[in-house]
Amino acid sequence: MNASRPASEPETTEDASTNVRRSAIASLYVHVPFCAGKCDYCAFYSIPSTSQETRQNYLARLQDDFRDVRARCAPLSTIFVGGGTPSILDRTELHQLLSSLSQTFELRSDVEWTVECNPDSLTEPKAELLAEAGVNRISLGVQSLDPTLRGILGRQGNTDALEDTVRHLRRLGVSGINVDLIYAIPGQSISQWTDDVRRMCDLGIDHLSTYALTREEGTRLGDSALPPVDDVLEIQMWDVVAEEAHGAGLERYEVSNLARPGAECRHNNRIWHGATYIGCGPAAASFDGQLRWTAPGSLEGWLDQAPPEEDHLPPEQRAAEILAFGLRTVEGWRIREFSRTTGRDPFTLRPEAVRNLIDEGMLIRTETRLYPTRKGLLFADYVAQTLL
Ligand code: SF4
Repeated sequence: MNASRPASEPETTEDASTNVRRSAIASLYVHVPFCAGKCDYCAFYSIPSTSQETRQNYLARLQDDFRDVRARCAPLSTIFVGGGTPSILDRTELHQLLSSLSQTFELRSDVEWTVECNPDSLTEPKAELLAEAGVNRISLGVQSLDPTLRGILGRQGNTDALEDTVRHLRRLGVSGINVDLIYAIPGQSISQWTDDVRRMCDLGIDHLSTYALTREEGTRLGDSALPPVDDVLEIQMWDVVAEEAHGAGLERYEVSNLARPGAECRHNNRIWHGATYIGCGPAAASFDGQLRWTAPGSLEGWLDQAPPEEDHLPPEQRAAEILAFGLRTVEGWRIREFSRTTGRDPFTLRPEAVRNLIDEGMLIRTETRLYPTRKGLLFADYVAQTLL
């Protein structure tokens, strides 16, 4: 189904006003807003998967979106279909989405193509369809294996078929399997958490994303009276991840992400390092190297072609933002790469902040690199605030 072409670097041009090197856009994000229900902690834009008619309207509009952005894209290096829950679409709808995407865009032969799925809506026929279409990375939203904790999170469905799903994806040749887990859930014990991480590692997954629960205002969990997990326990829970995952061959490469060497999420890694990307679908963000814009955050607004929200930042502040993002990764920034991406030097961009963060043991500077220490990763939000 894929129209692919050999891997090559996208063409770049230089913006004379900012010295920013701008590549033709090679990363695409597609937002599928539908879910089985609303989780109690969820602050993403998602809506219950309503009528077939609504989903058809969404797919038709998405095709228009694809056509509109096609001219701005180089052959795609990465595609990330997220949400929401893309696997909630039925097999015919999923086929429409995948074929519309691969017929509109040119894909590199080594494209990384991720689709987010819920284990209980990813049926065998849907998994086969994804693999046939060229999807080579599946991200499974598991969050917790414990039924009581899943209840606290307000997660729909169960994880009974998870082991079979992973085995089936392997048989189909899907080379990258990620699992998302959440820790620091009210009432969660260290032994429950250890059991979740261990069981996921025993499945032989390639990638693990673990997020400490954030209780966003306006969500049911954010507004509930449940006591939070204390900070010391939260740090111990992260230590469990690092230890168990290391034993299974997964290493941390970003604040919340671990992978087998070579199985890091290329899409996210590119974006953390300042790459441009286009987002299609409601609430999807895009970045062209200078301007970030976000599509209307409701399905109705997006179907009615309401204008996107634009985030204008002076080039210097944009460069600081890119610096902070890259310092969420273990690799951090190669100085030359940062200069090539933003046209600036991190030490003259934010001299005092960088010096202070080095003195505080958050960052390390070498001849060629600037990267976070373990402490810098633990206090990644503080590092980012200091640089912005
Ligand atoms: S499945 Fe994901 S996107 Fe959907 S409601 Fe739950 S957390 Fe939000």
